[in-house]
Amino acid sequence: MRKTCRPVIVVHGGAGTWHPVRSQPAIENVKDAAKTGFNTLKSGGTAVDAVVEAVALLEDTGNFNAGIGSALNIEKQVEMEASVMDGETLQAGAAGLLSDIRNPVRLARVIMEKSDHVFVVGKGAEELARLFNLERRKPDLTVKIKNYETQLSGLLEGKYVLPKLEALVKAHPELFQLETVGAVALDGKGNVAAATSTGGFPLKLPGRIGDSPSIGCGTYADNQSGACSASGVGEIAIRLVLAKTVCNHIENGKTPQEAVEKAVALVNKRISGIYNVVGLVAVDVHGRIGAAHSSPNLCWAYMTAGNEEPVASVTAKVLK
Ligand code: ASP
Repeated sequence: MRKTCRPVIVVHGGAGTWHPVRSQPAIENVKDAAKTGFNTLKSGGTAVDAVVEAVALLEDTGNFNAGIGSALNIEKQVEMEASVMDGETLQAGAAGLLSDIRNPVRLARVIMEKSDHVFVVGKGAEELARLFNLERRKPDLTVKIKNYETQLSGLLEGKYVLPKLEALVKAHPELFQLETVGAVALDGKGNVAAATSTGGFPLKLPGRIGDSPSIGCGTYADNQSGACSASGVGEIAIRLVLAKTVCNHIENGKTPQEAVEKAVALVNKRISGIYNVVGLVAVDVHGRIGAAHSSPNLCWAYMTAGNEEPVASVTAKVLK
């Protein structure tokens, strides 16, 4: 007999510092994304459908470091990346080094469903987007170039090198907002999925790939445990295989909230300094959710059958 579950979705708009002026529209955006994903689930869509629709909506807002809002690399270029994972089949798809795909998360899904590969970047990925008629759209660079100029002058003045980074981040937190987007969901059939999308770390080197498209690091889903999407400094989530670590904790009996807290505590313990910025959201196969971060804020929202409207916040459990 097929299992029926009460669907749940959790979305995030990134770990970082969300000042009130910027957080207002972002909160509305994550609520819209949670609602869109939840309506997809309610009308019989799969967890994969839900996380892809929720993330695509956030990519289109321009208010996050993903899709049209993507940050610039050191060469003033956009290199977007995204991934999706289906907890039922353990199938996964990821794309990177994308310059003009409107919705990188949809390309990640194409790679998962239409290719034999998990991770395709650059020209090959953009060619797949062409073959499957995915929309193209150049990200809007105006605001991003202004941020880039300030970041670059900090770098040239020697303020961006590691020993000075802490002071620079404290003085100008707005320059280092991370704001990747992601979603995790449980559908009515008991399947979980996760998706994550980003422009990557501001001023990153060309060709740098972060955690967001790296399966197990920024995104993981497995029906034996649950699903997790990460945000924050990608190099940390990669080293600690963070999304999979959260799922392992769930598989070993932790609730999603305990699991994300344990993973953030691990980051705090093992990675020192200003770089230990992470934010995690998770759901398990019972529909329980979790959210925690070490950054000042995590913009996130969730919706379950028990909520008439999505619940959103710019903080979850903060662990320093
Ligand atoms: N995790 C992303 C990266 O390092 C950044 C973010 O979360 O905003 O590429």
